[in-house]
Amino acid sequence: MKKQFLVFASIFACIHFASAQKKINIDSLAGLLEVWVNVPVVTPGVNNADAPSDATILYNGHGLGAFQKRDGSPAGWKIDADGAVTDIKGAGDLITKEAFGSCQLHLEFREPAEVKSSGQGRGNSGVYIMGKYEIQVLDSYNNPTYSNGQAGAVYKQHVPLVNASRKPGEWQSYDIIFTAPLFKENGDLESPARVTVIHNGVLIQNNVTILGPTDWVIIPKYEKHASKLPLMLQDHGDDGNPISYRNIWIRNL
Ligand code: MG
Repeated sequence: MKKQFLVFASIFACIHFASAQKKINIDSLAGLLEVWVNVPVVTPGVNNADAPSDATILYNGHGLGAFQKRDGSPAGWKIDADGAVTDIKGAGDLITKEAFGSCQLHLEFREPAEVKSSGQGRGNSGVYIMGKYEIQVLDSYNNPTYSNGQAGAVYKQHVPLVNASRKPGEWQSYDIIFTAPLFKENGDLESPARVTVIHNGVLIQNNVTILGPTDWVIIPKYEKHASKLPLMLQDHGDDGNPISYRNIWIRNL
């Protein structure tokens, strides 16, 4: 980093000097600031919700082969006629077979159209990145609850910047950019996890620092773990609040 800074400082000093002396063509020096590397070409989807060409498709309406239960048995959620996959009480969490670390994740979720409960009991699920760091999924449309537990919260750690929730029964999206934590050989934390969350196209978490694994009652504390771990979608186990997901894809970063 220091070396990079010195190189840039030297180039800028050189340009400044040349410009002042008017002896060297500034255009020839400008090239020194150009970086030429092979930036991979990725074909974007037709709209921003569609998976780009380098994404891993986790669910697109055609089977739950990318997921399993915690014990390794087949995932038990129900695939609906419209292609959504819906939690069935007692079906357990949806856990990816593949492990992921730093990533870009897109998913869409739908809270039950019929409101039967309130607070944390209303359409509670969660996107557990690395199985440890929950971005709350909840029906937060006119549904007061603690702010660091509403939709889009980094659960019990960060209140979302705004509440961008759509009405119950409408499809919503999360686009999540996650930087995995790094650990030293001795187990100490080198750098914490960070996350950015866009809810229905609106920025609600802006590169916030995750303090450690999330839970209902816990003082967050990092403990060394693998650089990649499965993603988990929570079965909160509530009665009559079946949450649905669709169009789930992820890109390794
Ligand atoms: Mg939850």
